[in-house]
Amino acid sequence: MPKQNKVPALIGVPTDLGASRRGCSMGPEALRVAGIYPVLERLCGQVIDTGDIDGPRATQEATSNGYRHLELAVTWSRMLSIRVYEALTNGQCPVVLGGDHSIAMGSILGIARYCRERQIPLTILWLDAHADFNTPATSPSGNLHGMPVALLTDPDSEMLRRMGADYAPVAVENFQLIGVRSVDREEKLNVNTAGLAVHDMRQIDELGMRAVMRAVLDKAKARGGHLHVSFDIDFLDPLIAPGTGARVKGGPSYREAQLCMEMIYDSGLFGSLDLVEINPALDIRNQTAEIAVEMSASLFGEQILARSSGSKR
Ligand code: MG
Ligand code: MG
Repeated sequence: MPKQNKVPALIGVPTDLGASRRGCSMGPEALRVAGIYPVLERLCGQVIDTGDIDGPRATQEATSNGYRHLELAVTWSRMLSIRVYEALTNGQCPVVLGGDHSIAMGSILGIARYCRERQIPLTILWLDAHADFNTPATSPSGNLHGMPVALLTDPDSEMLRRMGADYAPVAVENFQLIGVRSVDREEKLNVNTAGLAVHDMRQIDELGMRAVMRAVLDKAKARGGHLHVSFDIDFLDPLIAPGTGARVKGGPSYREAQLCMEMIYDSGLFGSLDLVEINPALDIRNQTAEIAVEMSASLFGEQILARSSGSKR
């Protein structure tokens, strides 16, 4: 069952334009300090660190039409989408080191473009305490890190229009949200209206992580193709991952999250990763970046014991 790993291509995206609490622009370096490179090298044999994207910085507050820093975020997203697309074209596995979660608009648009051109089905596992389905009409802050799922799936979103003709909306059916436990009131209405697949913490409590992931991955396997993991570190319980700006109690434990990663690896579909919302300014001795590296190791095939190729999972 274990799958031959593609070479991971690290892409640093040091921006926090999409969030009010600053600091996750330091995320890429925190992940490097925590050893993302040597850990993945040990598991995959080779890693390429493509360095950090040098995108624009905000010199002043800019909110228009309910979006904060949309123009700058679109520039970052366009730069990232090209880097992700190139890595996939080179047969690599993009590992995007964020940055706040708005950057997933760039990585996912690049992946979706790659898949669309090759007619490969795409499944996106959105691991997050939040649904990230706000719109300019429902978001009080205009912060883009609360909107990426809504903006990626809305064919009329200003973000998509500004990204240009190479990019197309991603269907709501491609998303599976896991670990959700904080959804704004109006956002909730939009989630239900859109029919977004949300596996919230109540579902995980009642059925267990194993059953929830089994159902999600069976669906992804039936579709086949590419599986992208967009991992917001606030998915994890804040007791184990305190270094993030929008902590929500009651998240998956260390072992629940690790099982989730191990099962994704076992599916053989995993092809790209975002690691976002790690904020070293709020962390304790880099423990949140370290746990992100440990979770990434499981996603790339780290196992407690080596299993025989015939083991049934
Ligand atoms: Mg998020
Ligand atoms: Mg979140």
